Amino acid sequence: MSEKFDVIVVGAGPAGTSCAYTCAKQGLKVLQIERGEYPGSKNVMGGVLYRKQMEEIIPEFWKEAPLERPVIEQRFWMMDKESVLSFGYKGLEWAQEPYNNFTVLRAKFDQWFAEKAVEAGSLLICETVVTECIVENGKVVGVKTDRPDGEIYADVVVLADGVNSLLGKQLGFHKEFRPDEVALTVMEVINLPKDKINDRFNLEDNQGCTIEIFGDSTKGNLGTAFLYTNKESLNIGVGTTLSSMIKAKLKPYDLLDQLKNHPMVKPYLEGGESAEYLAHLIPEGGFHSVPRVVGNGVLVVGDAAQFVNAIHREGSNMAMSSGKMAAEAIVKAKEMNDFSETGLNSYKDALSRSFIMKDLEKYKDTAHTFENYPQYFKEYMPMMNQAASKFFTVDGTPKRDKQKEIIRSMTKEKGRMRVLQDIYRAWRAVK
Ligand SMILES: Cc1cc2nc3c(=O)[nH]c(=O)nc-3n(C[C@H](O)[C@H](O)[C@H](O)COP(=O)(O)OP(=O)(O)OC[C@H]3O[C@@H](n4cnc5c(N)ncnc54)[C@H](O)[C@@H]3O)c2cc1C
Repeated sequence: MSEKFDVIVVGAGPAGTSCAYTCAKQGLKVLQIERGEYPGSKNVMGGVLYRKQMEEIIPEFWKEAPLERPVIEQRFWMMDKESVLSFGYKGLEWAQEPYNNFTVLRAKFDQWFAEKAVEAGSLLICETVVTECIVENGKVVGVKTDRPDGEIYADVVVLADGVNSLLGKQLGFHKEFRPDEVALTVMEVINLPKDKINDRFNLEDNQGCTIEIFGDSTKGNLGTAFLYTNKESLNIGVGTTLSSMIKAKLKPYDLLDQLKNHPMVKPYLEGGESAEYLAHLIPEGGFHSVPRVVGNGVLVVGDAAQFVNAIHREGSNMAMSSGKMAAEAIVKAKEMNDFSETGLNSYKDALSRSFIMKDLEKYKDTAHTFENYPQYFKEYMPMMNQAASKFFTVDGTPKRDKQKEIIRSMTKEKGRMRVLQDIYRAWRAVK
């Protein structure tokens, strides 16, 4: 391929496709390259897609996109071996337009989204690996691919190549990520008839539920599990930071197996048939791990830039917004005919003003705190379950005595000062 493009986008996940779509809509000549057989074929996600950021790219996308269910209930479980302390919110306003968020199956959604970029004028080639960026005089001027005569040139290359971003590493934008900067997650799609899902989760046809599960789901290690409803299947998965997995000698597949057989989870899955088994890394280093995102002729978006808010399980939305912001910066650079780092720097400014950098900054020390002080997941979750059991068991003990007994047993075990310190530290980590 000898022609030159305005933009080459590497990767057809949500970050890459948002960028390709927005650039093509602005009349730029765009090539998007995906190594998978089709967009979505290599992508893994628990499945919650956020309406707001997608709508900013394609208004009212829910009228035609292949979505599973609008989420109307979000539950949070703090799980112990044979119990669960839960809280959450269910609201019928989320069952109506404009909705809040949706469950999706990425293999379907990514294909549809990439097709929209193609309709907007972007050229998509699949089953093609970008092996390196071509750098001339300190500027990225194109990419090499694994195709014969596979060198292609462009004014700007956008790296939307996901969590490992070998291309970002090649350019020296980041080093190999440390085990505490990524979470290893395994998930399974389990087919289950619609009526069973509706009965078990107390839903109607076009209503979905998400459950985030902490505590025993990761054997008390830093991480979470999830159980989400699709139309006729469930997504169940679990992950911890790679460092926790190594330290605790956990095998991700064992964790998933134990989760599926946990007495609080098993009844939801009964009779289901496993349809797909997937494993993937999530970049969870947050604010401190964001690499360089702008260079001469190159921008980095989505997971490749570590844009994931693990506390709120937001990744696809940050991918989409960063892809869109990168496209807008490219359009500006084109107007100035300046594709240097300075010409593209409006991307960095837009990121700093957006929810992406603000949220990553807010939680910049959260994961490190919970990793360094494992008592939150290991000790407090079982303690809270025991406290709830004591408090809600009707045995003739006056409630005030129960309260005193619960506080006494908590502080006796850990010491009053330690408990207060732990509460203060946790508050500082999330404030
Ligand atoms: C188990 C799990 C659950 C998750 N749950 C949620 C959730 O519920 N909600 C949420 O918002 N986020 C969730 N996330 C995070 C979310 O999936 C990511 O943040 C999002 O997919 C990032 O999009 P992306 O486009 O940056 O990267 P990706 O979706 O990873 O896309 C990168 C693409 O680049 C391609 N590629 C890579 N290298 C090359 C190359 N050299 N040449 C050509 N193509 C290449 C890949 O094949 C891939 O298609 C979850 C992640 C995991 C793993």
